[in-house]
Amino acid sequence: MEPSHFIFLIVITIYLFIRGTYMLRSSSNKKTFKNSNIRENILVSLVAVSQLVLPLIFIFTPLLNWANYKLPIATTWLGLPVMVYALYLFWRSHADLGDSWSVKLELNLEHKLVDRGVYHLIRHPMYSSLFLLGIGQSLLLNNWLAGWAALASFALLYRLRLPHEEAMMLDLFGEEYRSYMERTGRIIPRLSRTKSA
Ligand code: SAH
Repeated sequence: MEPSHFIFLIVITIYLFIRGTYMLRSSSNKKTFKNSNIRENILVSLVAVSQLVLPLIFIFTPLLNWANYKLPIATTWLGLPVMVYALYLFWRSHADLGDSWSVKLELNLEHKLVDRGVYHLIRHPMYSSLFLLGIGQSLLLNNWLAGWAALASFALLYRLRLPHEEAMMLDLFGEEYRSYMERTGRIIPRLSRTKSA
């Protein structure tokens, strides 16, 4: 097995462990508002297939060989720190959101706005981490489908979901979320702060 494929398998195992742990913890939380629809459910499944099923088919079977290409060893050396940072951000964003976390767009009975930890400078650090995981996957897997499908499907999910998520947060938290939006960036830290008159 190529070292880059082995690294990817370790990364995806840690990823699943983090997600599984927090899914178990959040399963008992009562939800008061659910904002998911069939299109979003399909996209969430597509992201999961692109992150897990396609890479496993690529690594362990010859079925996707038609879409293989060569990658220089330098991409593995770049992919490794990208993946390590992505996993750190993925874990920290679950930990900082705590009870406010859910896979789908939902609100708890007593939902709290989180603006500390990795949420201090960025509003969507978990989505930043998923973009980084997608970039890392394309650096480690030398296949047009298994390497790039996760980044493409997550970019689509992000584009469709984000306006609904921010509208939902604005509805619930009003001015508190508006001022949080002014001092933070979406997926990268905001460099300059908006000064209100
Ligand atoms: N978009 C965030 C969180 C993704 S999890 C991120 O990328 O880090 C999705 C859930 O998180 C949503 O259902 C919403 O209820 C909750 N959420 C998003 N931002 C939040 C915040 N700042 N504080 C509390 N809950 C938040």
